[in-house]
Amino acid sequence: MSILSGLGSFGLGDLMSAELFEDDEEKEEEKDELQNKQMQEEIQLHSEHEFIFLKSYSCPVCNQEFKNPTVRYNRARKERIDPDLRVRYSNVDPLKYGVIGCPNCGYAALANQFDQLSLPQIRLIRENISVNFSGLSVKEVLDYRDAYSRYELALANAIVKRAADSEKANLCLKLSWLLQSRIDNFDQELYFGEGGFEETEKKLKSLRTNALDGFRRAKKKENPPICGMDNSALNYLMSVLAFDAELYTEAEDYLAVALQGGISNKKMKKMALDLEKKLRLKRKGMA
Ligand SMILES: [Zn+2]
Repeated sequence: MSILSGLGSFGLGDLMSAELFEDDEEKEEEKDELQNKQMQEEIQLHSEHEFIFLKSYSCPVCNQEFKNPTVRYNRARKERIDPDLRVRYSNVDPLKYGVIGCPNCGYAALANQFDQLSLPQIRLIRENISVNFSGLSVKEVLDYRDAYSRYELALANAIVKRAADSEKANLCLKLSWLLQSRIDNFDQELYFGEGGFEETEKKLKSLRTNALDGFRRAKKKENPPICGMDNSALNYLMSVLAFDAELYTEAEDYLAVALQGGISNKKMKKMALDLEKKLRLKRKGMA
């Protein structure tokens, strides 16, 4: 029994398993790791300048001109693709620059959706976003926290303008990628903020289950390509999301559809076969 087990009666139960003597070496290592991660991100941001420029846009909601950080794709080099289809580039992460946001009125959307607004949607955004909007700073290089806020704003806009389910699902998926990068970069706000790391993990899970739910709904109402994915790619992605949510039967069903339809992309095909293996092991209770 811990020597602090009596603390429960003081309402200090959380401290019951606290270590009495802190190991200085461990503490030092933790501090070093934190500083290293932060330094890595700073270096990354510094080198990102040459891949970014400020592009001018005209806002369809408030009609004002503004500038938005944009990636020079001709300079970015593709490195690999993650099992959940996140494309990784070396030197720059274009994901961070995927949202165009108007600093005047708060309208924000994914780049390929920015101009696609109906008149009723413009009215809804003016009435529900612009009236309360307090401003968005115009920066050239964005860190993951900046990017996360911009995607949150885009999701708020998507909800208000009653966007297609696929658009909301796609934003949730991308928010989960950005949150993962914030975790990987040891974002202090997540670790020392309200709820700490545990809350962040919960949020990450809920973003991914919301993405899955959105794609389920989209599949019933929309025709492929959905968010640039053909039917096989969409079913493969949904299988990955269902697997992560421990919904194995659902994951098997989507994967079967994906493989039956034929996956033309070689890397995706390989990842689908890997997932099939993982599902088989799960079924046998081996993983
Ligand atoms: Zn605007």
